[in-house]
Amino acid sequence: MAGKITFTMIKPDAVKSQYIGAILDKIVASGFKIVAMKLTQLSAAKAGEFYEVHKERPFYGELVEFMSSGPIVAAVLEKDNAVEDFRTLIGATNPANAAEGTIRKMYAKSMGENAVHGSDSDENALIEAQFHFSGVEMFR
Ligand code: ATP
Ligand code: MG
Repeated sequence: MAGKITFTMIKPDAVKSQYIGAILDKIVASGFKIVAMKLTQLSAAKAGEFYEVHKERPFYGELVEFMSSGPIVAAVLEKDNAVEDFRTLIGATNPANAAEGTIRKMYAKSMGENAVHGSDSDENALIEAQFHFSGVEMFR
């Protein structure tokens, strides 16, 4: 299990811009298998809970407001070394610093509206996957 899954969200900015298909295409072409997926919208409370680690940061309010502002695609992805490889694929948090060819370089608008989320550790990948999906919704 460890190292095999990561959790992602296509954020409201990218859903609104009709980038769902292009982003999923790139994810699959990069060797990730989609094992759970849904189009959904986070309530402000749920978004606040998801990003609770950032509660003390100055951008927390803005982050929660943005993440609950419209529909998102939530998905669990399977691949060897999933967490690290997915973070490489999405690029730096600030799209201005993201490498050429990364999802954030191609599709993100700004530091706040940066198109996709990717888990930062195997432990958080599992917590985040279980936050959004029940066991029977994950096809592993
Ligand atoms: P994510 O967790 O969404 O994959 P990340 O791990 O690259 O992004 P974090 O440091 O976990 O970055 O920050 C979470 C999110 O908070 C970022 O994706 C971004 O949308 C927002 N954020 C982070 N830093 C700032 C900032 N200085 N100003 C505005 N928004 C920020
Ligand atoms: Mg993060």
